[in-house]
Amino acid sequence: MARIVMKFGGTSVGDVERIRNVARRVKAEVDAGNEVAVVVSAMSGDTNRLVGLCDAVSPMYDSREYDVVVSTGEQVTIGLLAMALQDMGTEARSWMGWQLPVHTDDAHGKARIASIDTTVIEERMAMGQVAVVAGFQGLGPDKRVTTLGRGGSDTSAVALAAALKADRCDIYTDVDGIYTTDPRIVAKARKLDKITYEEMLEQASLGAKVLQTRSVEMAMKHRVRVQVLSSFSDAPGTLVCDEDEIVEKELVSGIAYSKDEAKVTLAKVADHPGVAARIFGPLADANINVDMIVQNVSDDGQSTDVTFTLPRGDLVRALKVLEDRQEDIAYKELIADKAVVKVSVIGVGMRSHAGVAKTMFTALSDKGINIQVISTSEIKVSVLIAEEYMELAVRALHTAYGLDAA
Ligand code: ADP
Ligand code: ASP
Ligand code: MG
Repeated sequence: MARIVMKFGGTSVGDVERIRNVARRVKAEVDAGNEVAVVVSAMSGDTNRLVGLCDAVSPMYDSREYDVVVSTGEQVTIGLLAMALQDMGTEARSWMGWQLPVHTDDAHGKARIASIDTTVIEERMAMGQVAVVAGFQGLGPDKRVTTLGRGGSDTSAVALAAALKADRCDIYTDVDGIYTTDPRIVAKARKLDKITYEEMLEQASLGAKVLQTRSVEMAMKHRVRVQVLSSFSDAPGTLVCDEDEIVEKELVSGIAYSKDEAKVTLAKVADHPGVAARIFGPLADANINVDMIVQNVSDDGQSTDVTFTLPRGDLVRALKVLEDRQEDIAYKELIADKAVVKVSVIGVGMRSHAGVAKTMFTALSDKGINIQVISTSEIKVSVLIAEEYMELAVRALHTAYGLDAA
C-alpha cells in the first residue's frame, strides 16, 4: 500500500467526460489498495475567464477580492470530481483550501503556503475515503481566501504530498512527461525519463509552464518524488529526482523560453558610483524583480547606457518609477521594448564542461539572430532576443545540442 497525491490540471478536468476519466484513474489507485488524496485545478479556460472579469470591472482591483473571484474555479471541479467518484462507488469528499486549512502568507494573488493541516484528510483516508482538495487556494492570516499565483495547483499538490509524507506526487497533465523543450513548439522534443530537481527548477523559473516554480522548490526541499504524466494515456511519465539517481547525465537537458519579458534601457546615465543603486533601489522598493542587467563601458568616461529586463506585467509600473526619478538618476532617455523573449539552455553537465555558451552563440548567429543581453549561472545560459525569432531560436538550439528525437 502506498500513499499517493494525484494532481489533475485544467485540461484533464476540462469537461464532464474528462472528469469521469479522472475519477476512473483515482478509483484504480484506490482499488489497488492505496491511500489517495487528489488535488484539482479549475476547468481549462475558467481561471482566465475569471481573471478577465476582474480586469473588466477594475484594472486596479484589490487583490483580496481578486482571490475571492479567481479561487472559485476549483470549487466547481472538486465538487464534480467527488460526485463522479461517488457515482462509481468510491467514497470521496471535497475540501476547499480554507476548510483544511491550507495556511498561507498574506501575499494575495501570489501567496506562499506556510503549512497544511492534514488532520481531516488523514482521518478520511483511514476510513478509505478519497479527499479531493481544491488546488491554487489557501487561507491567509487575515482569514481571507488567498491564491498561489497562476499554475499554483502544482504547488498545492506537492505541499500536500510533503505534509502527508506521501510516497509519490503524480502530476497528471496534457503531455506525457517533461520534454527537452515545449513539445508544442518543437515537434522533435524528446521525453526525459528523469530530470534533476535543479534542472527542473531552472526550466520552470525560465519559462517552462509544465510545473509551477514553487512546486519544484518545495519538492526539492522536502524530497518529494514528483512524477509528471498524462491523464489521457498510460505512457510512463518523467520522474523529478536527485542528481545521483540519474546515470546518464546530459550536457544540456533542456531549452526553455519565456515571453513574459520586457527590456528597459536608460540612455546616457552618468558614469559614477551610486548610480546603479539609484536605479535599482526604487525598483526593488516597488517590488519589481529585475532579471538580466548590462551596463556598457562608457565611451567618454562621462556617461553610459544601462539595460535590464523585468516581467512584462511590471513594465508600466517600472517606467513610472523611473520617470518620477529622472532628475535624481540623471539619464537622458528611457527606452522600453516589450517585443523580446528570453531563451535559455539548461543542464547540470555545464558545471564540468566548457563550450556550452559558444555552441549557443554560434547556433543563433548561423540563423542571423541578434543577441541583446546574456546572463549565465552554473547550470544555464540565457539570452534575450527579438520575440519574432523565438521559435526559430528554440528549434535551432534544440538541434545544436543534439536533443532532437530520432
Ligand atoms: P496543467 O493545466 O495540467 O497544469 P499546463 O498547461 O500548466 O498544464 O502545463 C502543461 C504544458 O506545459 C504542456 O501542454 C506544454 O505545452 C507546456 N510545456 C512547456 N515546456 C514543457 C516541457 N519542457 N515539457 C513538457 N511540457 C512543457
Ligand atoms: N487554475 C489555476 C490557474 O489556471 C491554477 C492551476 O491551474 O494550477 O492558474
Ligand atoms: Mg499548470
